[in-house]
Amino acid sequence: MRTVDIIAKKRNGLELSQVEITYLIQGYASGEIPDYQMSAWAMAVYCRGMTAAETAYLTKAMVESGQTLDLSAIPGIKVDKHSTGGVGDKTTAVLAPLVAAAGVPVAKMSGRGLGHTGGTLDKLEAIPGFQVGLDMARFIDQVKRIGVAVAGQTLDLAPADKRLYALRDVTATVESVPLIASSVMSKKIASGADAIVLDVKVGEGAFVKTVDQAFELAQTMVSIGASLERDTVALITDMNQPLGRAVGNALEVEEAVQTLKGGGPPDLRELCLKLGGQMLLLAGAAASENEAEALLLRTLGEGSALGKLRELIEAQGGDPEVIADFSRLPRAAEQVSVAAPQSGFVSAIKTENIGRAAALLGAGRQVKDDTIDPAVGLLVSRKIGERVEAGESLVILHVNSRAHLAEAQDLVRDAFAIGGAPSRVPPMFYGRVTGKGVERFGEQGKQI
Ligand code: URA
Repeated sequence: MRTVDIIAKKRNGLELSQVEITYLIQGYASGEIPDYQMSAWAMAVYCRGMTAAETAYLTKAMVESGQTLDLSAIPGIKVDKHSTGGVGDKTTAVLAPLVAAAGVPVAKMSGRGLGHTGGTLDKLEAIPGFQVGLDMARFIDQVKRIGVAVAGQTLDLAPADKRLYALRDVTATVESVPLIASSVMSKKIASGADAIVLDVKVGEGAFVKTVDQAFELAQTMVSIGASLERDTVALITDMNQPLGRAVGNALEVEEAVQTLKGGGPPDLRELCLKLGGQMLLLAGAAASENEAEALLLRTLGEGSALGKLRELIEAQGGDPEVIADFSRLPRAAEQVSVAAPQSGFVSAIKTENIGRAAALLGAGRQVKDDTIDPAVGLLVSRKIGERVEAGESLVILHVNSRAHLAEAQDLVRDAFAIGGAPSRVPPMFYGRVTGKGVERFGEQGKQI
């Protein structure tokens, strides 16, 4: 078999066999196939697409390129959740204890933030003492003991994906549905998930900008799940404004804790209940969505979800007293308000600008090895549809260094569109894709 023939076949729009795809991925992972040939192949895929069968073969080959996490020692169905990334997305910090409190084990491998989106590990590390570097034995033992663990990746999971993703990043081949879908699913499957809930974000602050693209991505990932025998459900959810109001690590922890206390911003609470409900259904812990949601609401009402967060923090070496006393979280030295230039109603928010502003203040990384400041970030005072008077705050920046303050202020000012009349608030949910089919709620969305 010759790599050049595989590239030509894909370039000509033909379907590759499992043997050909496996040859390519194994060769690339071992270093026998060079970057320039893999780049040409990735561009051929970008232009020609892949069939469902090819996408499943690619995912499987990427899983098999590295180690896999064996969670079989943990009783029950292990359901993982993945978000395609957004601004202010602290759902894992809420969902992990929430779902664990409902009796479903959560063994979560999470990542760090890069660019304008945050990462769960950075958020949890804002809790003084919290350790995310668990070895596998401790990780599994903790899930068996308290039902939940959230840790960074220590195994070499899907290394072919890691190489291919870095290559795609510099060859203009990231935005390919089969390549994104296989990349995400290979990591979830290698992390030992029996079943997977996907939060496919769509909108200005998301990776995917149109609802149609989001459905295509969701359907492709659900179909990969079916081919590789992992029950998979995707919700298509809005990212045309930050989720909740907090963006920045300690600020987001505080908002997640408020949500587990039964309060928190309504959009975050709603999203966590829906995603958590899907997790409970896939785990067989509830027979219907209503039953799943009632169970989750009970854990919130009784305080057992909050109690589970306390156990999680204690087990991973963090200070559990932050739950009762937010002043124990890192705090920025200064708060700077960005004021509305005119009165009216917020009609749109360039969400990526908001994420970039928080990152500039030090809440995120521009490059992989940057260190972050857990205290800094911002709170969004006005969301879409809300009234603001000229001079009132749109956003409050939490600042430790003024080095990039002016730039962050400009990004935030430019982010907000203010109109004269109340505008339509974007829906939270656009639809759902399961193994049984696609439900579209339309551009207007619908509560599910
Ligand atoms: N996230 C991933 O993990 N992979 C992609 O290809 C895109 C986003």
